[in-house]
Amino acid sequence: MATDCDHLVGYIPGGEVKAGDWNWKLKDFVAQVDDFNVRGQRDQINHPGFAAEFRFCPNCGHHIDRIGLGLLSYEEAFKQYDADKTASRGSHAMKKQGWAVKVVEDATGEVVKLLPARDQRDAEKIERGLEINLNHEKYTCSVVEPAKI
Ligand SMILES: [Zn+2]
Repeated sequence: MATDCDHLVGYIPGGEVKAGDWNWKLKDFVAQVDDFNVRGQRDQINHPGFAAEFRFCPNCGHHIDRIGLGLLSYEEAFKQYDADKTASRGSHAMKKQGWAVKVVEDATGEVVKLLPARDQRDAEKIERGLEINLNHEKYTCSVVEPAKI
């Protein structure tokens, strides 16, 4: 019976994928593609292949309502993966924060920008650059020493 079918909603290298597995498998696959894009040339790893979205379930022929089922498109999965990656990199950078330049909004005291620097000289260079460009009526920038944020 069509209603009992656990629809296959697409193909991801390794096999056909059921609706319940699609999103995490797709994100997993996106991570592989990203890994390939980053180091595929250098390390000669194989291209991970391509994912395909089915419009109809190959088992029962039922039309796959991808939005109704909450299935991510490849682009959406990539965006989510990218956001996760940026978030984890951000928290990582925070933990081992070295030299940086912070820009504080005077009105709120809020750090609106934190620019990482390689070392003190680099930080001072960034600060000088900011000094020229900043709207001094609203913002103040200062060099931040490592581990003092
Ligand atoms: Zn089906």
